[in-house]
Amino acid sequence: MTPDTGLLPGAAAVGGSGRIRPTAVRASGARVYDDRGRDYIDGSSGPVCVNLGHGVPEVLAAMRDQAERICMVHRSQFSHPATAGLTEEVLALAGPRYREVVYTNSGSEATETALRLAMLHHAGGRTAVLTQLPSYHGMTAGALGVSGHPPRRAGLGPLHDSSAVSVPVAPAGADRLVPGRQEWEAAFERVGPDRVAAVVVEPVGGAASGAVPTPDAVLRRLRELCDTSGALLVVDEVMTGFGRTGEWFGHLRSGVTPDLVVTGKGLSAGYTPIGACLVGHRVLPGHSATDLAFGHTMGGNPLSTATALAVLRYTAAHRLPERAARVGAVLRERLAAIAADLPFLGAPRGRGLLLALPVRQDAAAHAREPLAGRICAAAERHGLIVYPAGIDHRTQAVLVTPPLTIGDEELDELGLRLRRALRAVHDGTDR
Ligand code: PLP
Repeated sequence: MTPDTGLLPGAAAVGGSGRIRPTAVRASGARVYDDRGRDYIDGSSGPVCVNLGHGVPEVLAAMRDQAERICMVHRSQFSHPATAGLTEEVLALAGPRYREVVYTNSGSEATETALRLAMLHHAGGRTAVLTQLPSYHGMTAGALGVSGHPPRRAGLGPLHDSSAVSVPVAPAGADRLVPGRQEWEAAFERVGPDRVAAVVVEPVGGAASGAVPTPDAVLRRLRELCDTSGALLVVDEVMTGFGRTGEWFGHLRSGVTPDLVVTGKGLSAGYTPIGACLVGHRVLPGHSATDLAFGHTMGGNPLSTATALAVLRYTAAHRLPERAARVGAVLRERLAAIAADLPFLGAPRGRGLLLALPVRQDAAAHAREPLAGRICAAAERHGLIVYPAGIDHRTQAVLVTPPLTIGDEELDELGLRLRRALRAVHDGTDR
């Protein structure tokens, strides 16, 4: 089955248009170099994870040191100071409502862990999982099964999603891109509040909505709906966590405390694979979630946790969440100026350094090929990496999410190259 017109091949399988990609050989800061000596500004932090930029000496030293001592022990056989230290620091950041961190190798596995813990919490008695349309929670069958991302599910048939309920924007709310309070309330009623095991929500959407924030009032209403129904609130901070949105976690400003927080990407800033699920006291009280969740062979391996610990300390020492807010405001203004000159782009959206340039809905609807994919390809030719997002012509966008450490010169260069690439798309000289 092919996606409907207007869906993004580039979002369905990132960069999946069959074109030949450059061969990366080294990287430093916000620049990646290919085997022909060309440099690319990493305007997307890879797939929105290289939060510290490439080649940070403190992180590399910690990795080297850990690799020389010990790369792998399993938690069922040994404890390890790096893993214990990371848990302590993550819990200190997350606050007193959490008691445990379950480690995985990716964000998808962290979503899986949260889903399994939610099912176990209800002793299998509740199975419905509510998520928004659009949303993205991972590529494994369970995580994709609850994702409101039709292009990434195209051709797969039903996944493990007999219990998944995507909550869409009602026709009356056509001016919005994500569901509001009424739509969530209606979904709880439709499904039956006592059937809902969990709600999973991103504080700011990424691959699916293209940096559309979930309003704080919606997050607060979701907390209330979960409290009255007994469902668990799972916040997916895989893309937003560890400073990207201008705060340590994207949900903090809402004042809401989720029961489970799913993380990945920024936890290690892309230096090594790791994900984590933070477990609140209310979830399976009196039990070890780590033991109940079983986990993955390499989840929490010392090389990954030592790396993540170094990343966390660097993030704190350099106040990168605040930096993301400050630099994000500057970048947003520049993107607005760039978009104002181009008829196919709308005003930038997002938060902190999780920003997107939306393709105007009318332009997306009438384009012969998805404009977001075309923009990303043109940007690459101009030495800039950006990332396509969106599930349809309404949400189509280009994510502009550079490392939180991006310097002034790199930021200027990002703007220059983006402007050139967009001008080429506008003039039709990009092919
Ligand atoms: N959740 C969100 C919000 C994401 O953005 C992603 C990845 O893009 C995932 C989950 C899945 O994480 P991973 O790709 O590490 O499995």
